[in-house]
Amino acid sequence: MRHRAAGWLVLCCAAVAWAAPPSPESYFGQRMGADHLVLDWSQVVSYFRALERESDRIKVEELGRSTEGRPFIAATIASAETLRKLDRYREIQRRLADPRITSAADAEGLIGEGKAVVLITCSIHATELASTQTAVEFAWRLITEDKPRFRAILRDTVFLLVPSLNPDGVDIVTRWYRRTLGTPFEGTGPPELYQKYVGHDNNRDWYMFTQAETRLTIAGLHNVWHPQIVYDVHQMGSNAARIFVPPWMDPIEPNIDAILMQESTMIGTAMAADLTAAGRQGVAIHAMYDFWAPSRHYQAFHGGMRILTESASAKLATPATVQAEQLDRNALGYNARERSWNFLEPWGGGTWRLRDIVDDQLIAMESCLYQAAIHREELLRNFYRVGQRQAGRQSPWGFVIPAEQRDPGATQKLLETLAFGQVEIAHNAAGDHVIRMAQPYSGWAKALLERQHYPDLRLYPDGPPQRPYDVTAHTLPLLMGVRVEATDSPVEGLTPGIVPRKAATGLPAADSDSWRAINRAWAGGGRVWRNRASGDFAVSDPGGGWTV
Ligand SMILES: [Zn+2]
Repeated sequence: MRHRAAGWLVLCCAAVAWAAPPSPESYFGQRMGADHLVLDWSQVVSYFRALERESDRIKVEELGRSTEGRPFIAATIASAETLRKLDRYREIQRRLADPRITSAADAEGLIGEGKAVVLITCSIHATELASTQTAVEFAWRLITEDKPRFRAILRDTVFLLVPSLNPDGVDIVTRWYRRTLGTPFEGTGPPELYQKYVGHDNNRDWYMFTQAETRLTIAGLHNVWHPQIVYDVHQMGSNAARIFVPPWMDPIEPNIDAILMQESTMIGTAMAADLTAAGRQGVAIHAMYDFWAPSRHYQAFHGGMRILTESASAKLATPATVQAEQLDRNALGYNARERSWNFLEPWGGGTWRLRDIVDDQLIAMESCLYQAAIHREELLRNFYRVGQRQAGRQSPWGFVIPAEQRDPGATQKLLETLAFGQVEIAHNAAGDHVIRMAQPYSGWAKALLERQHYPDLRLYPDGPPQRPYDVTAHTLPLLMGVRVEATDSPVEGLTPGIVPRKAATGLPAADSDSWRAINRAWAGGGRVWRNRASGDFAVSDPGGGWTV
């Protein structure tokens, strides 16, 4: 009997080509979010590979390697029919993103054909570990469960899922949690940085792109897919709301298109409604989180909206207990003990487990994707409109970065940073660089090049200032010491592209590149000399020859 059953199974599989994708529980030995469950990154990667082997609704791509050399992966999930034509959907996104190459009439055809593209990114802050587990369970459910909402999602969206934006951090936190389990340190954060160079500020890198993980995400996903929605999944402290969902609080960065803000309010409140309808308490909207610094997000200046959820944390994978009187009465924008319009059903306190976070995030992910599916057409049309509005910006005409600079190394770095963010740069015969505002991502260039005026927000009229959530300025010319001038007069005679910097004479101390050169010289066994009067450097190679 057993033999025949096995033979039948083989035939059956040959006919439909797929066996059942393994459930997370069968693969990892426990349900996602189980008390004390932490994951190894290699297991997460091999699980996604197993899903890919057994289903025609998911593709898994290694975008590159993390800072410490782990595979950095993204899954693409959609109907099998959509997955066969991903090149076509990427092309539609590329054309809708640029109204200069796509007429309004052509755009309508593309909107009819296209899919809403949603990117969900998890656990950039590695101690906020729930969402990697949610990603595992959600991916499996979406490709195996048959229900109307999932059918709509698979049909009308292209879903890009990054199970961790910080794979190194997954293993750092897992190692620490296992080592301290059963000790007084159980559930504490690891003493080392969970991203080798920048730790928690890996989520402040979305405008300078200094880290491998940021660059892989921008170059491999944002810049090729131009997602309409990017939902970044986070956790916060334990003593206030159970989950935050947009709308955002003031201030809103002035160069972000109002259409995108209205849409993030629309999607966010729909997610809050779904959470509440599912019986989840402690949902806060329009609280705590502002939308000012571009260092936390890239998409809002590239035609996409940012959705964020922040869930209350357990103690890593250990349950936390919160007494009712520990709940924060002075959370920013609400009182965690009282009902208000933006916090309708307070959570009364009690035990809070990793699984509670996973449960909320499963609802939030499904809701966000379902909203994208049912609003597919408007999202695509508005995406095209945002591009038109950005490329139609009249004032300033553009920005000029003069050839003559105190720090040519920093100037080159500024230009390359803008270009990595898909800003088009041209130059004239004199070597001045020019950034016209008549381009789809002019708001990005403008936000990074102009001087910010952080609004004077008070806790109450004539009261003390409201504490900003984060940094209040992000002017790259001031941060980097580069001269940049806004202009309302068109600059003529431009050629596309960045001109390479002129070779410096000597190693002037004012040039950032000199400092790199002397560090390289030291690393290579050379000697470094400094002129006491000017501060400039000279370098000798190990053979004794001068390489100034
Ligand atoms: Zn976070």
